Amino acid sequence: MADECLFCSIVVGAVPAKKVYEDPLVVGFLDINPRNPGHTLVIPKAHAATILDISESDLAATTKAVKRVAANLKRTLKADGISVAQNNGPVAGQVVNHVHFHVIPRFATEGPVGLEGILPAKRMDERTLNSIAEKMKSGGFSSDDVEEPSEPAPRRAAPPAERPKSGDKKVTEEDFEEIDFDEE
Ligand code: AMP
Ligand code: ZN
Repeated sequence: MADECLFCSIVVGAVPAKKVYEDPLVVGFLDINPRNPGHTLVIPKAHAATILDISESDLAATTKAVKRVAANLKRTLKADGISVAQNNGPVAGQVVNHVHFHVIPRFATEGPVGLEGILPAKRMDERTLNSIAEKMKSGGFSSDDVEEPSEPAPRRAAPPAERPKSGDKKVTEEDFEEIDFDEE
C-alpha cells in the first residue's frame, strides 16, 4: 500500500467505498461522481500509478474484473452498452494516482457519445498517418514494455493534479504541426 494514496486506503477499508466487486487481486467500487448509475472503478489492490507501472499479472486480473463488472452492469442495471475509460497522467485527465478503469453503463436514451466525448477527431492526411505509423513501428515493442516493474511501488503517491476545465484549451492542426514526425 502506498502512503497517502486514496485508492490504497479504499482497498484496505480505511476510506469507505461502495464495493461491488472483490477478488484476491482486484477491487471494484462505485465512483462518487457517477457519470451514469452503476459507474464503477475497477482497480488492482497493489498500488501502481499508471498502466505503465502495473505488473502484467495485475493488469490481466484487473481487465478480467472489468469484463465481469461490465457483464454484471448489463444484467443488473440493464445497460444497453458499456464504456471503459482509463486515464494515465495529468494531461490525460488522471486525477487519482492509482491505476483505475472506469466501467460506465450506457443507455440507449442518452445518445451515442463515444470517443468524441473525450477528444474531437482530428483530420490527418495519408502522409501524416504513414509517418506516425512508421515512427511507432520503428520504435518497436521492447522487452522493457512487458517486464514486470523492477522498482517497488512508490511509497508516496503524487498529489492529484488539478483537472483542466473543458474548453480551457483549443487544439488546432497547428499543435500537431509542432510534433516532429521526421525520422531522426
Ligand atoms: P480519473 O479522473 O480518471 O483519475 O478518475 C478519478 C475518479 O475517482 C473520478 O471519477 C472521481 O469521481 C473518483 N473518486 C475520487 N474519490 C473517490 C472516492 N473516495 N470514492 C469513489 N470514487 C472516487
Ligand atoms: Zn494506491
